[in-house]
Amino acid sequence: METYTTRLLSKKYLTKHILELRLEKPQNFEFHAGQFIQVKAPIGDTHIYRSYSISSTPSDEYLELCVKLYDTGVASQLFRMIEPGSELTFKGPAGRFTVEETDSDLYFVATGVGLAPIMGMIEDELSNKKNTQKIHLIFGVRYDTDIFWNDRLKALEKNHSNFTYSVTVSQPHDEWTGLRGRVTEHIPEDTSTIHAYLCGSMDMIKSVRDMLGQRGTDMRTVHFEIF
Ligand SMILES: Cc1cc2nc3c(=O)[nH]c(=O)nc-3n(C[C@H](O)[C@H](O)[C@H](O)COP(=O)(O)OP(=O)(O)OC[C@H]3O[C@@H](n4cnc5c(N)ncnc54)[C@H](O)[C@@H]3O)c2cc1C
Repeated sequence: METYTTRLLSKKYLTKHILELRLEKPQNFEFHAGQFIQVKAPIGDTHIYRSYSISSTPSDEYLELCVKLYDTGVASQLFRMIEPGSELTFKGPAGRFTVEETDSDLYFVATGVGLAPIMGMIEDELSNKKNTQKIHLIFGVRYDTDIFWNDRLKALEKNHSNFTYSVTVSQPHDEWTGLRGRVTEHIPEDTSTIHAYLCGSMDMIKSVRDMLGQRGTDMRTVHFEIF
């Protein structure tokens, strides 16, 4: 893996604890949608690397990350502090969580910042590869205030008739009128013909994989990334 030093272009809070960061894409940097980079974060006199999925597509001029901030996190501290113009060093790209070529329908499941690689994969399938098979995303969050990129996903749904998107909230406000419960409560009865891509916590991935297995999915077509 090569090491690159680049600059932060923009920084935006998507929710109270989730940041969207756009970095200048180094000229010779190439990747596949869904891959991640390892960002260098200082800790005392030394440094650590932390992995972050790329949420932009290979054709975008910038590299986009979507980062959840933890109170005592080392990299979280770096991301809280940096401002547009700051330098960032990273290694990459890495990872095999990328979309395999297929005519089968694609079924994406994301919880929380697990949406990061999946956003890039879906935009790449629809806008760059112009694939026409059915693509569905179910996005799960705990509270309705945790939802992000809703407008971006709605716009994709409006512009691509083969893409549908739903969001489910496990602990919604009383006024919430959308889907409720965990993502596992909204998996279709028959999943025998889909290729699935899952990203989020270990618990979510385990539950969804078990359910897909029970509902007829060939497990060789189930791909996942655990954060
Ligand atoms: C392949 C891969 C891709 C990833 N992509 C992303 C991404 O796109 N966006 C993103 O936000 N993260 C992503 N992660 C997670 C990321 O690499 C870091 O682990 C995370 O950001 C925490 O780093 P930190 O240095 O801020 O916290 P650390 O210093 O590692 O942890 C400090 C404290 O933060 C809390 N904490 C850290 N991680 C978790 C967790 N998962 N659940 C609950 N509490 C936790 C704990 O209290 C911990 O003690 C990815 C991980 C992998 C392996």
